[in-house]
Amino acid sequence: MLSDALARFVFERSAVRGAVVSLDDACRDILGCHPYPLALKRALAELLAAATLLSSTLKFKGALIVQLQGDGPVRLLVVECDAALTLRATAQWSDAANALPADASLAELAGGPDHGRLAITLDPKDGGPLYQGIVALAATSISALVEHYLTTSEQIVSRMVLAAEENRVRGLLLQRLPGATTDDDATWASAAAHLDQVASSDLVLPRTAEALLRGVFPAEDIRLFRPRPTRFACSCSTERVANALRLIGRTEVESILAEQGLIGVTCEFCNRSYTFVAEEARALFARDRGAATARGAPPPDPVRH
Ligand SMILES: [Zn+2]
Repeated sequence: MLSDALARFVFERSAVRGAVVSLDDACRDILGCHPYPLALKRALAELLAAATLLSSTLKFKGALIVQLQGDGPVRLLVVECDAALTLRATAQWSDAANALPADASLAELAGGPDHGRLAITLDPKDGGPLYQGIVALAATSISALVEHYLTTSEQIVSRMVLAAEENRVRGLLLQRLPGATTDDDATWASAAAHLDQVASSDLVLPRTAEALLRGVFPAEDIRLFRPRPTRFACSCSTERVANALRLIGRTEVESILAEQGLIGVTCEFCNRSYTFVAEEARALFARDRGAATARGAPPPDPVRH
């Protein structure tokens, strides 16, 4: 069965490629980190699948971050997928999000189409520049937003279908490659039409990637590549939290210690708690040890703490 995996495929006789993803345990574990409202669960699940599908198109081994910012029921929503297909997500929302229907659009989550934006960031993780594309919240579905991004920013005509079900999600991406011939026009039109016919209930049926693709594109000769596993894991660590505390500075840390007696930090992605008693917190600023540790440690995550 296709489960917690991403599988790329190509049409043998046309310049068409794609990928199919199923997030099962990974989706359940990520959604289980916080008491997300229903609308947010569905949006997060679909964005997790979309991010994994997008990562299958990357030419470099980096991370992909999809971030929704708004000033409505949802202020922030972040989904990350790294080169090893490790996923994590988080969100910030108000009580108003609980009143939204489960199928609310990203524009509704953000407070209206002009009140939010979706940013897709590609981080090559090799010290090279980040690439960021901004998507207006014009389309009503997440798949249509991502299709628009791929067609305009990447200049690759793309189709995507996503289907989220109780704590799991499936998605299918189809792309028309540059250099397609006129013969490929008919193939693309037919494949896209078949994709339009796929009901969510069909997409989530338990079956192998091969069976799923045969069901969706019965006339095509498809080469399926070996599926790659996906999983939930968080990159937070004591060292990263220590670096974040060094960044906020000794004065701020002392003020928290004066108020609370210790420093408690909870990771917004995985909910793990880190505690530094006063002695440990002050040791972070001890000149020798602090300098030695900071040099070897990865930079703190800007969106987490
Ligand atoms: Zn974490």
